[in-house]
Amino acid sequence: MEWSELSHLTKEELKEIQNQKLRTFMRHQLPFSPYYRELFKKNNIDFKDIQTTDDLVKVPFTSKSDVAPTEEDRAKPRQFILQPDEHSIKKYAAPGMLAKIILKKLTGQNPRPMLEWEYKPIHIHFTTGRTALPTPFTYSARDIETLKESARRMFGVIGIPHDTVAINAFPYAPHLAFWLAFFGLMTVGLTTLQTGGGKISGTQKILDGLERLKGSLLLGIPGYIYHLLRTAKSEGRNLENLKFIILGGERASPGLREKLRELCASMGAKDVKIFVTYAFTEAKTAWIQCHESEGYHLYPDLDFFEVIDKDGNRVPDGHPGELVYTSLDWRGTLVVRYRTGDMTQGIEYEPCVHCGLTVPRILPDLQRSSEVKEFHLTKVKGELINLNQFFPLLSGMSEIEEWQLEITKKDNDPYGLDEMTLYVCPKEGTDFTSLEQAIVHKVHNEVMVSVRIVQRTLPELLQQLGMETELKEKRIIDSRPKT
Ligand SMILES: [Zn+2]
Repeated sequence: MEWSELSHLTKEELKEIQNQKLRTFMRHQLPFSPYYRELFKKNNIDFKDIQTTDDLVKVPFTSKSDVAPTEEDRAKPRQFILQPDEHSIKKYAAPGMLAKIILKKLTGQNPRPMLEWEYKPIHIHFTTGRTALPTPFTYSARDIETLKESARRMFGVIGIPHDTVAINAFPYAPHLAFWLAFFGLMTVGLTTLQTGGGKISGTQKILDGLERLKGSLLLGIPGYIYHLLRTAKSEGRNLENLKFIILGGERASPGLREKLRELCASMGAKDVKIFVTYAFTEAKTAWIQCHESEGYHLYPDLDFFEVIDKDGNRVPDGHPGELVYTSLDWRGTLVVRYRTGDMTQGIEYEPCVHCGLTVPRILPDLQRSSEVKEFHLTKVKGELINLNQFFPLLSGMSEIEEWQLEITKKDNDPYGLDEMTLYVCPKEGTDFTSLEQAIVHKVHNEVMVSVRIVQRTLPELLQQLGMETELKEKRIIDSRPKT
């Protein structure tokens, strides 16, 4: 079904489409996954038992640790790739697919290219987690078409005009953000400079491109886009053509958005719209807001989201909890009932008041596991503290230009006390002593730890963060020796 039609169906119609999609997927696609074949067998679940999205609760969750390779088992992620062979095709393939194969054979054609288009992995993204080894997620040629379609929808949601000139500043790497932007911008047909980000083109060349090509759409990781715009300002650049910023790859706090908006306005871009995307490698695509206060617009024919409580029970519609993702129409590597670890305030099912689309939206206030889980459970001085709180707290303080948090052991003794050092570059004209007191006070009240504050100049801190040399800036570093 066309997106223009699909995105205006009623809640009930969308639910029915999801159920149909899920049924077909369960019968004719998921059995090609070695992992899920085994999982269903072990739990005595028949693929045909999953008739509706409500039936999904019978299926055990999949977690990052189920997919991620380990030193002992590097091939683990391969179990999640759909791999039809002659035997499983006969058993599970959809009647339409079987008929096509038979017809090809009867007319002396090779059915192989058709099957390869649908299933053969031809493109790979890796997760960027800090706790597990990078996990590959593969795309078939069919998946690339699905990726393009989802990207077309994404740009459609925010209504990007066709004469837009785009500057893609996502880092060039086998990661979702760059390639989704690349395929998406190609598909909608915008004039684009694919810069590869600061590490590939360098900030100067990206800014030259933005200025000379009169770029109106800028895409990138929040921390880097801030760095880029700040540099532009210090060089007196004119960015009056800039109209849209799309942020991805990381969370963007309201405070950071405000700073970006101020920077843009000071360079002539008075009315910049800033959109944030939500994405994770395992879902193979991204979702976007249509308005800064609105949630992430989902593609109900490609993905199903449910929300669970801490005991793993599904919560009623609109309630907060952890997001669980199920693929409905991908090939290559895919996951079902995948625990994202991302905490949402809920999913909105009523039509969007801003764009009128009826597709469900994940509410914008999202706590990402990439920040939460991997740092969250950090034991500092034996206490579990939520390092995630540092992001909105510090990025939201207008007197702070840049910051970095480092956790160390006293005297580098693995059994010594934990220490936290916060490197801070104050905004020009800020009194450092009073800023220092304000930060110590805020951190003590909100995160309930004490930190040592160290002043840094902007060049020093940018180097520490790896702003021009790393794919993502190193905002929080754990330098404690391993025990
Ligand atoms: Zn909307």
